[in-house]
Amino acid sequence: MIPPVARATLQVANFRRSRVMYGGNKFRQLPSPQFAIARNGACWQLVHIVPANKVVFIEHILARMYDFDFWNCQWRYVFKRIRNPLFPHDAFGGHTGVQEFTCFEYVFVVDDKTDVPSALYHFYMGKAQFGLCGTQCTIFVAPIEQAFMANAVTHIAIRYKTDQNITDFKEQFPHVRTLVKFVNNGIEKNEKNKYFMGMFKAGDIVKVLIPNVANAGYDYRLTVAADIGQFVACRVMNRPYVGVVWGIGDSGLPAEKIKDIITVYDARLAVTDLQWIAKMSTWTLMSLGAVLRLIVNVPDAFLPPKMEQLYELNIADGVRMTAPRLAVADAFASNDGDPMSASDVQNIAHVSAAVVRTMIGQGLLVPREQRASVSAALRRDIIYHDCGNIKLNAEQQSAADKIGAAIDAGGFSVHLLDGITGSGKTQVYFDAAWRAYSRGASVLLMMPEIALTAQFMHRFAARFGAAPVVWHSNLTAARRREIWRGVLNGEIRMVVGTRSALFLPWQKLGLIVVDEEHDTSYKQEDMGNYHARDMAVLRAKIAGFPVVLASATPSAETLQNVALGKYQLLRLTSRFGGAQMPKIETIDLRENRPDTYQLPSDDADSAPRTGYLSTPLCDAISETLAAGRQIMLFINRRGFAPIVQCKKCGWVAQCPDCSVGMTYHRAMGKLLCHMCGRTAPMLAKCPDCGGDVSTRGAGLEKIAEEVSARFPSARVVLVSSDTISSRQSLERLVAKMENGEIDIVIGTQILAKGHHFPNLTLVGVVDADMGLFGTDFRAAEHTFQQLFQVAGRAGRGEFPGRVLMQTYQPDHPVLRAICAGDRDAFMASDMAARRAAGMPPFGQLIAIVVEGQKESVLKGFCDALAAAAPIAAGVKIMGPIAAGVYQIRNWYRMRFLVAGDTTTMLQPVVSHWLAKVKQPANIRVKVDVNPQNFM
Ligand SMILES: [Zn+2]
Ligand SMILES: [Zn+2]
Repeated sequence: MIPPVARATLQVANFRRSRVMYGGNKFRQLPSPQFAIARNGACWQLVHIVPANKVVFIEHILARMYDFDFWNCQWRYVFKRIRNPLFPHDAFGGHTGVQEFTCFEYVFVVDDKTDVPSALYHFYMGKAQFGLCGTQCTIFVAPIEQAFMANAVTHIAIRYKTDQNITDFKEQFPHVRTLVKFVNNGIEKNEKNKYFMGMFKAGDIVKVLIPNVANAGYDYRLTVAADIGQFVACRVMNRPYVGVVWGIGDSGLPAEKIKDIITVYDARLAVTDLQWIAKMSTWTLMSLGAVLRLIVNVPDAFLPPKMEQLYELNIADGVRMTAPRLAVADAFASNDGDPMSASDVQNIAHVSAAVVRTMIGQGLLVPREQRASVSAALRRDIIYHDCGNIKLNAEQQSAADKIGAAIDAGGFSVHLLDGITGSGKTQVYFDAAWRAYSRGASVLLMMPEIALTAQFMHRFAARFGAAPVVWHSNLTAARRREIWRGVLNGEIRMVVGTRSALFLPWQKLGLIVVDEEHDTSYKQEDMGNYHARDMAVLRAKIAGFPVVLASATPSAETLQNVALGKYQLLRLTSRFGGAQMPKIETIDLRENRPDTYQLPSDDADSAPRTGYLSTPLCDAISETLAAGRQIMLFINRRGFAPIVQCKKCGWVAQCPDCSVGMTYHRAMGKLLCHMCGRTAPMLAKCPDCGGDVSTRGAGLEKIAEEVSARFPSARVVLVSSDTISSRQSLERLVAKMENGEIDIVIGTQILAKGHHFPNLTLVGVVDADMGLFGTDFRAAEHTFQQLFQVAGRAGRGEFPGRVLMQTYQPDHPVLRAICAGDRDAFMASDMAARRAAGMPPFGQLIAIVVEGQKESVLKGFCDALAAAAPIAAGVKIMGPIAAGVYQIRNWYRMRFLVAGDTTTMLQPVVSHWLAKVKQPANIRVKVDVNPQNFM
């Protein structure tokens, strides 16, 4: 199949109506008299023809060929730039090289057979908002104001008008829409900014993008000069907002209806940031405003700090630490003990206003200051230095040298630092961080929240001489503001943070490290859907700097990019300090059925309890305990038992708001819905028939009960999101492990990440089968990653480790691959299966989840959507079907899945489809590009 864009291009290439002569070169003229496409060697140029065959170049628009860009799963054009001798302020600075289309504007003409939305997408980063469908139209490029030309802004507006031949721009101006685009990919950032300086003057009407979900910018009048990307204050529906100047106003509203901008701040986003926002919006189908909201997410960032009563924590020794008090203490610890407002305490500690009031009354929180401040720990004048106390081994050094060379050379590149746990990836990317930082660039070290441990902070401080500035979700408003402003004005140049740190207003960002790149926490799923790893790569690609992805179990997407030669692979194969990989074995539960057990409190005649720990695992636990070492038991299920059922009639406890069963949490003494968090009292009798209620299946608490029965003297700790509410509580656990105060730790996946326990030598996976048979095509990959990471916890010190996985499927390829330690073989077979099924990364998916509170309205809307489903080559639309969980919080859920091969751009197909069907009130539509979660 010829992609639509190819047809459009052929049209352009076939215009041979007349020729004009210019400087000895021949030009092909377009039907629009103002323009011509000129051939220059292998390249095409767009020229602007002024009457009497006087030709003026308006841009180097050089369509040459297209190829397939795998990373973006789209066709792209490769252009060649040449210096334009007639353009006096050549923004390209004579740069020559192959560049991608995102930095160019050009003209092309299409006929009514062309899939215009799709073609437009390829050319204009999916500005499908043009809403062109099937009508004959002409799309062309023109300089919108001669002033822009004179200012050498390589900036061109695209206008279109359907069903008419446009012969006079000015006459048509009120009816056409413009899209401002930014050119210049390959120029140094500061130089590039220069070309956008003084772009708009007082009195100009500009489009301002507002950080709010539903907008693509509104028009305002400038009262002073401003640049593209400059932060401004303005009002929308009488509410104040801080937005950014996005381009030329294009609403066509009469001048008297356009409001003035209130303030123009002395701060701006770089042009590449705006390009990034636009591209991210295109890719994720989030609105431009929703993307900007990820960046402009600090209230009052440009205003002086508010007067607000702040409190300090005052907990003397001997004060009883209840759970809420502990949570409040952790909230303060998350912020280096800075004074906090009452609302900060509430929000960060997740406690009620009553708890805060009580603590104030008890003197545990004491009023201190009235103005938000941050502690010295967040000094903006920190200068890091390389303490030079780390000696890399040969493998690490070689990896560090390769990344270092890429940083020195500049430009975009992606490096996969692929090393088993304990192989010393951190010091390699610290090396890269230092290289970029010492060159004056800003550096972002991104990691899952759970990996922001004190251990990591200490390593950072040991390497760079000061603690890092840390960005995560539990910061006070004052701290967020300080960091945000510090990053904006370039005073803070190195930040360690979670996925949201990617959206800080970075200046001169020169390196992003994405640690644990496979981690699912990089995928944001609540407020818009984006994958922070992919958006980091996108940001680097647009701004032109290197990215380091680090993982012991890289994702299939990343491995595929390595296979395609897009990412450079740097392998670390030996464990640092000579520690050995643990021995990994399965225990076949078919031959080793766990014995029953009884608790000391059980009566002699009470029924024996179902056991989950097999004899070989129990023996290994006994041996390990006897040797004075530590044990980790992994079970990825919270609570005591997932099923609460009537023995007589079969009734099962279900959440009234969600279509899932409720889990019995014995520590809480309640039933809990894991979907919505609703609780209900545990029942002794069936509400339907009055029969006895029993529990089935095993969660963490059940395993703990069994462990305490079988190993009564062992000191046991439970770790799950129920018991670990903050990083500080995890730190306390880690400290206890290190001090040998714990013999057996029983935990969910929260334990699987990044902690180093030298005395931990046995890892037991209670149910290795859990997760192997998900319906999701990533189930095997995720199970493998999780078990591989868990296994990596064992034997990281001087003692060899051992991993035992209990399973009914010892021959399952995932488990066999883990036992063999053969990640590559596993990923190869998993990826072959995905290739055969056309699943990512060998195909594309977009999930559309439609939610409604009334089933009838939901069904009607889904039927309408199904009826309007586009028929396009290479695109398959599945659904509607009931979503994996049909009901959550009383919203019913249906889903569509749009699948396509890697040569078709699905985003414009989806946005056009959704735009065709009117959405009733009380219907939510969530679009998830490249979904990770198939609930
Ligand atoms: Zn019953
Ligand atoms: Zn629920």
